[in-house]
Amino acid sequence: MTVGGWQPARVVDAVDATPSARLLKLQVPGWPGNDAGQHVDIRLTAEDGYQAVRSYSIGSYGPGDTIELAVDEIPEGEVSPYLVRDVLPGDELEVKGPLGGYFVWRPGGVEPVQLIAGGSGIVPLMAMVRAARDAGAAASFRLLYSVRTAEDAIYRDELARVATDGGVGLTWRYTRAAPTGWQGRVGRVDGDVLRGATWDPDRQPIVYVCGPTGFVEHVADALVQLGHPSARIRTERFGGA
Ligand SMILES: Cc1cc2nc3c(=O)[nH]c(=O)nc-3n(C[C@H](O)[C@H](O)[C@H](O)COP(=O)(O)OP(=O)(O)OC[C@H]3O[C@@H](n4cnc5c(N)ncnc54)[C@H](O)[C@@H]3O)c2cc1C
Repeated sequence: MTVGGWQPARVVDAVDATPSARLLKLQVPGWPGNDAGQHVDIRLTAEDGYQAVRSYSIGSYGPGDTIELAVDEIPEGEVSPYLVRDVLPGDELEVKGPLGGYFVWRPGGVEPVQLIAGGSGIVPLMAMVRAARDAGAAASFRLLYSVRTAEDAIYRDELARVATDGGVGLTWRYTRAAPTGWQGRVGRVDGDVLRGATWDPDRQPIVYVCGPTGFVEHVADALVQLGHPSARIRTERFGGA
């Protein structure tokens, strides 16, 4: 599902998701619906006519004219601080989309699905988790989510519920500090973490990796080292080092 052209969008809800991230619900009249994993471009126009465009993944999927985004603030960034701190319900933005046809998951496949997120890279993967849950396919999904601390996890409560009730195999990785009582190690995702928290390559999973560019490249390289064919690894890079 892809359309062209800029469309007006109204912010209908804006709530804090973490100390640095916000969930935004946008109503887009005529929205054609979207697949899990697609994104939109957002265009902001200042009073003097200056425009800025950035891409944001869609955390929701399916039909309806309301989409959900989750934006994490990049300090010193041009657009994300505005979307996280300043935008209010009732404000108008412009969106283009849905965009992207490769980094998507649609029900019907038989292979296991491995999701690996770093930070706000959870957003398109959350849409896939929701789609899998609704399609009764959650048991074939595993998710490895790397965050600085538990407080930095977008969708933390919903993910805990989906893991408990819905069958998605969820592994947290904390890179700065773990919650009280956490038994595992703290640090970056490495080969050992991947080996323990992901489907074995022999199961021929399809793997989706999303997050900051450095995280995605590091994880994709480690997956290949573990024996995952690169053709089975789909990546989405959010930018940064
Ligand atoms: C397909 C796609 C989907 C995306 N989806 C999301 C999403 O769901 N949620 C979300 O929060 N962001 C998402 N992003 C990132 C988003 O498009 C912006 O890049 C981000 O919000 C920063 O924009 P900015 O204007 O605040 O920073 P800029 O002014 O563009 O950049 C400021 C500085 O921060 C660095 N930087 C930019 N992006 C990142 C990053 N992601 N991590 C670390 N450093 C960075 C830049 O290199 C630069 O040095 C997505 C990007 C892509 C390409």
